[in-house]
Amino acid sequence: MARLTYPNYPARCGWNVMLPPRQARPALEGPMSVPYAVIGAGYTGIAAAWRLAELAPGAEIALLEASVVGEGSSARNSGFLGRRVMPKEPGDRAAERARIQSRFQAEGFDWLEERIRTCGIDCNLTRAGYIRAAATEQGQAVVRAALEVARSNALGHELLSRADLERRIGTAYYGMGLYLEDSYLLQPAALVRGLADALPSQVILYENTPVLSLRRDGKWRIETPGGIVLADTIVLATNGFITRFGYLKSRLVTIYTYAAVTEALPDADRQWAGEDTDWGVLPSHRLGTTLRRVGADRLMVRSLYAYEGELETTQVTRALRQRFERRWPALSHVPFDYVWGGTTALTMNGSPWWGRIDENAYASGGCNGGGIVKGVLLGKYLAQLIAGQGDPGELIGSLGLANWIAPEPFRTVGFHVASAYGQRKAGMEM
Ligand SMILES: Cc1cc2nc3c(=O)[nH]c(=O)nc-3n(C[C@H](O)[C@H](O)[C@H](O)COP(=O)(O)OP(=O)(O)OC[C@H]3O[C@@H](n4cnc5c(N)ncnc54)[C@H](O)[C@@H]3O)c2cc1C
Repeated sequence: MARLTYPNYPARCGWNVMLPPRQARPALEGPMSVPYAVIGAGYTGIAAAWRLAELAPGAEIALLEASVVGEGSSARNSGFLGRRVMPKEPGDRAAERARIQSRFQAEGFDWLEERIRTCGIDCNLTRAGYIRAAATEQGQAVVRAALEVARSNALGHELLSRADLERRIGTAYYGMGLYLEDSYLLQPAALVRGLADALPSQVILYENTPVLSLRRDGKWRIETPGGIVLADTIVLATNGFITRFGYLKSRLVTIYTYAAVTEALPDADRQWAGEDTDWGVLPSHRLGTTLRRVGADRLMVRSLYAYEGELETTQVTRALRQRFERRWPALSHVPFDYVWGGTTALTMNGSPWWGRIDENAYASGGCNGGGIVKGVLLGKYLAQLIAGQGDPGELIGSLGLANWIAPEPFRTVGFHVASAYGQRKAGMEM
């Protein structure tokens, strides 16, 4: 049987390297038998394992991670998260849908916040808000539409001019921005490491333990380099890599996207980080560039997409540099300290896929680039589904389920055509 592939990044995650070193848990050695095995220790897998431990006291839960916690996508992301969902457009229908989604979003966020507080996880969770910024005419139309939604739903906001933006975030690149106050930023590697290290003792985390094959032989038989797990019930919490196990191939695609963080700005250049001590910028086009201030003196750019495989490191660095220097030409002498990529899973209709995929096998994936809170929420609900507790109907009704994507080769061709068209439209928002 062919070995399963798993994420194997060429560069370490910058957020993780910025933290003090962490001792990884030992890899699995030898055989074991458990009622539950969860594959993937990101937000989804950790929440699923944690909730299973609460619902099945005394049951041993094996949590298998290919890499180490802090090096997966749950650490590689930009650290934007929200407690409420903004309606997609003005009007009562969109407001009602967002209201229901916000109730669940708040449940996921509160789960995280409570653990951050009670487990003393130092991940700089800050209600910094975010700015939706536009550099082009088309981008400004998107920002104006978002302004109307914010006004009609009484969401705390502020419309920002070029001069306001320059003062607050140190770049005059954008002509308009909408600040939305009800949103948060955090250090993602610190969060996922903190959660993994606080897991209930029933959950046995094995790091550097990639699952190489999976088959059903009465029980589920999970093979790793050093051992074998026999499990009654399994959870695939590997996001885009669920497809590598042979499931959801017509629902999810794996996308790579990239980030870079500068060296600490020299004192003489500190003004280019802006007046706001903590800020984040989201683009007005989905293929655009995300920005963040990191701590007192660093800047982050996140941009670029690749389909089902990594881009070349030199190509990534060159493109991220270009985007950075476009925004901060005066900082062209400040090098990047870290450049890294991560995976996310996209679906055709923007909804995740969640539920039972086989006999005693469950999966959740397709976070569409927003999986910190959604991963936690869906992981938790997956555990409840397995334990026969709670009714997920309203949650799934409000989020929807990932719909069908055309098979290969149409899918690859479709992605490249859509991406080329999108990039042309995104223009200077990239
Ligand atoms: C650059 C970037 C920026 C992003 N920005 C944001 C943001 O600001 N806010 C936000 O909410 N989301 C963001 N995202 C998306 C977010 O990171 C994901 O939605 C989130 O990580 C999903 O969590 P997860 O637990 O479902 O999957 P993952 O975090 O991908 O975890 C899955 C785990 O499974 C492991 N795995 C895979 N295959 C195997 C195997 N065979 N055996 C064992 N283990 C395996 C992987 O190593 C991984 O650790 C971003 C993503 C990227 C890449």
